[in-house]
Amino acid sequence: MQTRSTTHATRGLAVLALVAWASTCVLGFTLMAPWVGSIAEGIGRSYLSPIPLIATGASLLCALVATVVWASRTRAVASPSSAAFLERRGLLLTGLAAGTAATAAAVIGRNAAWIHTTGMAVGTSTPTESDPKDVQASWRDATIQSYRRLGRTEARVSDISLGSASISPESGGEELARRALDRGINYFDTAPDYTAAGSEIALGRAMKGRRDKLFLATKFCTPRGHVPAGASVAEYMRVVEESLTRLQTDYVDLIHVHSCNSVERLLDPAVHEAFDRLREQGKARFLGVSTHTPRLQEVADAAIASRRFDVLMLAYHHGAWPQLGDIIQRAAAADIGVVAMKTLKGAHHEGLLELTQQERSSYPQAAFRWVLSNPDVSSLVISFRKPQHLDEYIAASGQTPKQPDTALLARYDREIAGKHCFQHCGACLDACPENVPIDDVLRHRMYFESYGDQKEAMRLYSLLPKQADACASCAAPCLNACPFGIPIAERTREAHHLLS
Ligand code: SF4
Ligand code: SF4
Repeated sequence: MQTRSTTHATRGLAVLALVAWASTCVLGFTLMAPWVGSIAEGIGRSYLSPIPLIATGASLLCALVATVVWASRTRAVASPSSAAFLERRGLLLTGLAAGTAATAAAVIGRNAAWIHTTGMAVGTSTPTESDPKDVQASWRDATIQSYRRLGRTEARVSDISLGSASISPESGGEELARRALDRGINYFDTAPDYTAAGSEIALGRAMKGRRDKLFLATKFCTPRGHVPAGASVAEYMRVVEESLTRLQTDYVDLIHVHSCNSVERLLDPAVHEAFDRLREQGKARFLGVSTHTPRLQEVADAAIASRRFDVLMLAYHHGAWPQLGDIIQRAAAADIGVVAMKTLKGAHHEGLLELTQQERSSYPQAAFRWVLSNPDVSSLVISFRKPQHLDEYIAASGQTPKQPDTALLARYDREIAGKHCFQHCGACLDACPENVPIDDVLRHRMYFESYGDQKEAMRLYSLLPKQADACASCAAPCLNACPFGIPIAERTREAHHLLS
């Protein structure tokens, strides 16, 4: 009688253990796998809910306890001989191993696509990783040689400034920023959505005790992307106050309307009222706008005409379209500071093009000299991603164009023909019936391939309101829509595969 009830109890425990393991697998697949995927993509843990971790952990604990109790109640318990002990231990280990393996498979299986892509990225040499020997002796310990007036802000800023889109505390960004300060850089550009707030956190730590030496720019934004359209004044103020906390400062010198793609967003009354209130409270000094979208001209024209903006940050590089020079001239005439970004024209030079090593290592400085030869540009913001950039980039400070630059820049242009998407252009957008944001898709591909920011590129791509999955089965009416000869469908399909 006792044996039968013991058998029933043991069966019940077995069922309970199986149910617990099944629940753990389901929770692992549905909750834990996306959580792990987010961590792997570089999203800070502070932005993720702990519920998946707690729920899966609790279920796993139940499964483990149920398995141990079940194993201890098997017939082997009734006759605790040596053989029975071995049998019980075998059952226990088998149950635990099978359950754990099934849970791990559920979590890993769901992230297989990510692992494939990242594995590929890790397996090939990252195109942005140049060897320290590339750093020429004459560049070593370079310091900033020129400071320019930033329009009516009256600040004198380094001609080469620290862009921090790729840095985070985990990537050594704090130390990199500190060393940039030591080298004379006095303009830091950041944004809440750069490395999911990691950039602001790293800069906040690096600036401790030296805040007064710096002109600091951030953006109206959240760590997960733009403030949604229609947000209130209070919401715009709140995101800036959160930036101040991360940056460990009481004020920022400049707040940009971030990556602005429409005049409506540029002139949103809520943004302007929020800025005015922040300025009254001493939390912000100047207002700016950053834009590299197809509507750059429209946005820049409206910003200049509004007289509200103190700084324009524009995508500007060699071979830029002629009207851009005109915009910069008009901005400077209105005493608006002009900051150039995207100055490396896609940064395709690091390993992706048929350039000699010498051409590759000379290209950034030649490109910077071209940008800085425009006296209306106050500074260029370039993304520093590794310590070598302190030598390589800063060595171009204060220089004027050199004789070989023209041939090198022309060679670069020939090499990128059909590969580089001009962000200001947008000529192809109307050709896509699916409204794929072709320029954004190709920009994130550029971040992945040329900038070497694989995780960040994938994270930003995942935040796009529309991705390029439709391209896989599309007849490609965009075929001849690019005046620069880019095979759009081919590039967007590949981009979707890389970035998804
Ligand atoms: S793909 Fe071509 S047409 Fe489309 S935005 Fe880029 S450069 Fe312009
Ligand atoms: S291939 Fe893609 S980008 Fe081109 S038209 Fe089709 S959906 Fe649009």
